[in-house]
Amino acid sequence: MSSMLKGIAASNGIAIAKAYLLVEPDLSVERKEVGDTEAEVNRFREALATSTSELETIREKANVDLGADKAAIFDAHLLVLSDPELIAPIEDKIKNESLNAEASLKDTADMFVSMFESMDNEYMRERAADIRDVTKRVLSHLLGVQVSNPSMISEEVIIIAEDLTPSDTAQLNREFVKGFTTDIGGRTSHSAIMARSMEIPAVVGTKEVTSEIKNGDLVIVDGLNGEVHINPTQEVVNHYKNEYEQYEKQKAEWAKLVNEKTVSADGTHVELAANIGTPKDLEGVINNGGEAVGLYRTEFLYMGRNELPSEEEQFEAYKAVLEGMGDKPVVVRTLDVGGDKELPYLDLPKEMNPFLGYRAIRLCLDEQSIFRTQLRALLRASSYGNLKIMFPMISNLNEFREAKSILEEEKSKLADTGTKIADSIEVGIMVEIPSTAVMADVFAKEVDFFSIGTNDLIQYTMAADRMNERVSYLYQPYNPAILRLVKMVIDAAHKEGKWAGMCGEMAGDEIAIPILLGLGLDEFSMSATSILKARSQIRNLTKADMENLAQEVLQLDTNDSVIEAVKKVINE
Ligand code: PEP
Ligand code: MG
Repeated sequence: MSSMLKGIAASNGIAIAKAYLLVEPDLSVERKEVGDTEAEVNRFREALATSTSELETIREKANVDLGADKAAIFDAHLLVLSDPELIAPIEDKIKNESLNAEASLKDTADMFVSMFESMDNEYMRERAADIRDVTKRVLSHLLGVQVSNPSMISEEVIIIAEDLTPSDTAQLNREFVKGFTTDIGGRTSHSAIMARSMEIPAVVGTKEVTSEIKNGDLVIVDGLNGEVHINPTQEVVNHYKNEYEQYEKQKAEWAKLVNEKTVSADGTHVELAANIGTPKDLEGVINNGGEAVGLYRTEFLYMGRNELPSEEEQFEAYKAVLEGMGDKPVVVRTLDVGGDKELPYLDLPKEMNPFLGYRAIRLCLDEQSIFRTQLRALLRASSYGNLKIMFPMISNLNEFREAKSILEEEKSKLADTGTKIADSIEVGIMVEIPSTAVMADVFAKEVDFFSIGTNDLIQYTMAADRMNERVSYLYQPYNPAILRLVKMVIDAAHKEGKWAGMCGEMAGDEIAIPILLGLGLDEFSMSATSILKARSQIRNLTKADMENLAQEVLQLDTNDSVIEAVKKVINE
């Protein structure tokens, strides 16, 4: 039967393909006494053999698709599968205690996992993770439950998941993964942001895709309207094929603006910049006519691995981005982990409120060696392009002053060694915490620029977790409370002769753009795939009219009244 679920439109575009469920299987184990222990040992050995051949196939595929270093993970898993120190005690348990294979495996593996995890040795803790993974695989065969192997996907699919972490998203193979949809998440969760930069249509926060969709169902992800259609009728499929073609045509129209400047109908130039996560995203920036990189989220360099990236590795990544952009500005944000971006290898304690916790600049000022390594890599790369450095999550002036003085210290140490560093590097901050927006006039005397991070600014101002789909209606970028804060920041910058940009998702939003133009925003930084559409929109707007519109909406009462007022003006 066909049905439809509503969610949050997280990444534009339309995808039609078969469903691939990426869900944690139910591997709960029942304890049972077995009569024929010999047969039970054989059943266990069969599960081991199936797991081994499955892992060998995955390893081969990973070797070809992802390279030898990623494939090495599976070598470690294969070693566990053939390790007599693990296998023998399981078989003994089956024989001596007449305990079923599932429970014998689980008891033994749990014992090793907790032993390795408690060791003060990173290598052993990683072995604990390997044992946990391998146990899951063998258990799935014993229980006859399917575990998903996303790296084995070899046909066009739509991923259906409860949630995707940013590193899950980074591993999606664009060739086969045509779209994704999740139960949880909001428009500004990082998996949604990454889907936009990868141009994968996505609908998040549907609450129930994983319970409504089965493997192999035909699914349409409508990332334009936030709809997921399950086993649609032929009529719906035809409708969407048509929508897809229209969307492609529209994109071809926008593409004609790739080499144009972004100028309003009455001649004001604003800068349209792109948000990137890795040097690989540069291609999209260039293809979409980005005039700058307004936000390089460097934390992705630290994710999906087992240790911190070295200074050299960071230097190469920053240099590649700076060189790739030539003389165009590149705003590099220093490490912003925490919230939904975890680095398991830092082994930080779990927090009740990770978005309000030990993250970003707070961690960097505390763990200074991590911060200083990054700053050195940035300073060394600075002579290869037009670098600007930006600190995330600044909540008060002391943090900015301390971060800046650490930067100055590293700069003078490097200069003493004769390292070439760019003559002038602008140093700015993200304005994403309300206390900083309120104090923008004071900050403006000390920073070189502001970039307003509305994804966090909205979550903190409205007190609504950006990952929680139940409160996603409080993500209200046009709420006059937010607009007034944005105005304070822009005015404060201009009063001191500084520039103000925005790198939250709001900067690429078609309802927000007219207001932001009217408020005098200088730089709009967004997913590269939104740039051409925004350019086309701005070329049709008159700045003087948008100034009037901005004045009007600042005095309105709710998010909805602002939407209405903007629509009236832009549809005229
Ligand atoms: C923001 O908060 O608006 C922002 C751009 O940073 P991030 O989305 O990475 O938190
Ligand atoms: Mg942020």
